[in-house]
Amino acid sequence: MTYQTINPYTNEVLATFPDATKQEVDSAISAAHEAFQVWRETTFEVRTAVLSKAAELLRADRRRYAELLTLEMGKVIAEAEAEVDLSADIVQYYADRGESLLETVKVPVALAAEGDVEIVNEPLGVLLSVEPWNFPFYQVVRVAAPQLLAGNTILLKHASNVPQAAAVFEDLFERAGLPAGAFKNLYLPHDLTEYVINDPRVRGVALTGSEEAGAVIAGYAAKAIKKSTLELGGSDAFVVLADADMDKTVEWAVFGRHWNAGQVCVSAKRMIIVDEIFDEFMQKYRDGVAALTMGDPMDPTTTLAPMSSQGAADNLAQQVARAVTGGATAETLGAKAPTEGAFFQPTVLTGMIPTNPSYYEEFFGPVSIVIRVKDEAEAIAVANDSPFGLGGSVFTKDTVRGKKVARQIETGMVYVNHPTMVKADIPFGGVKHSGYGHELTNLGIQEFINKKVIDVVDINAAF
Ligand code: NAP
Repeated sequence: MTYQTINPYTNEVLATFPDATKQEVDSAISAAHEAFQVWRETTFEVRTAVLSKAAELLRADRRRYAELLTLEMGKVIAEAEAEVDLSADIVQYYADRGESLLETVKVPVALAAEGDVEIVNEPLGVLLSVEPWNFPFYQVVRVAAPQLLAGNTILLKHASNVPQAAAVFEDLFERAGLPAGAFKNLYLPHDLTEYVINDPRVRGVALTGSEEAGAVIAGYAAKAIKKSTLELGGSDAFVVLADADMDKTVEWAVFGRHWNAGQVCVSAKRMIIVDEIFDEFMQKYRDGVAALTMGDPMDPTTTLAPMSSQGAADNLAQQVARAVTGGATAETLGAKAPTEGAFFQPTVLTGMIPTNPSYYEEFFGPVSIVIRVKDEAEAIAVANDSPFGLGGSVFTKDTVRGKKVARQIETGMVYVNHPTMVKADIPFGGVKHSGYGHELTNLGIQEFINKKVIDVVDINAAF
């Protein structure tokens, strides 16, 4: 594993960064710990001012940041700009709410003799934030913004293919006025991860990424008896009922499966379509996917980006081949993908059945699994027949029915008539193999907090 910027549109290696040494890791932990001693005592007024400034800096340099995201992981430039905006919104969300998210809570007690009980919210200390490349800024702020507001400090271990996005974030917070060491990017090699987590000054770890990485990192945290949160993969169901508005639904299906080149944890990965409207959906979906334009992600007319790396595209091709060996049918759609760059021809997989070894896997790219079901009840059963439990969606004109179906889907988030709502003020989190814990809003900020109980028992004690 090497930290490198490789442009996925050309596969050209543009920059390489050395791994952090053990000495650099030690000094980053020391600096983050020292910064914590200061930051935890810093007023909310100052903390929110730093966050506001960070949001302002993000917006001020929106285009430059967006170009860096597109350069390093290939997303189309409009999506990169939207990611910068969303990241600024999240930082601003916490700046605007400040202390109100962490107010002391009085605990009602039955008897006066139990005392005057309250819960105060205190930061834990240095946190390790391990993040993926698919949203290089957004993933970072989902942890950094709330936790910095709470008074924690952060060591960032970003994905090895977005080293410049990682460095830019450290610079951003420094310019926003965060004390030195309070947010530190480390080009951490895998074999030093446990070392960091074992350090007594490091009090928790938040990981967003694959199940495999989640199990390893949470295992380290468990052994060291430290808090962890895991935001892992998903295979979200996109359930279409017979009374759905077909044109709108197909538009959302095409978008839901192909934005960010299909590399979204909450992409619409399994289209579950009731029999009555299956043929109509399929015809329109095929047309919609075939109309996507692959090309230079910096070109505003491109609607389907290359994947994040040639390795990711090659792995996905092998995964599709395994699904076909297992009995599925693969149909490719649209104009031929460019031969240079990490492009992947959009593919629809039909005939996927539970006995196919690939049936329960996450396909992280422009591959749609389409499953025909007889009715709503079977759609719900198929949606729930997954090891994952991240998001999902239901399409129906009857929103009361939509909500009822949503209640029966075993995931952390379900959207009615939309593939997913990724916003600063909507919480995010999954169940089952999609992980545990929440990010964003008042839920996210609670994850690395010491909810300390203070009980003044003898209120009338005289000294
Ligand atoms: P990944 O390989 O698990 O990488 C995620 C992060 O974990 C990277 O920083 C990676 O670093 C690090 N990592 C992996 N193994 C590690 C180890 N043994 N020790 C230390 N660090 C390690 O995930 P990915 O394939 O890049 O990302 C895609 C996955 O993330 C998909 O499953 C997707 O669904 C999931 N995801 C989930 C969410 C969510 O919120 N639930 C959001 C986005 C993505 P290196 O790059 O150095 O390997």
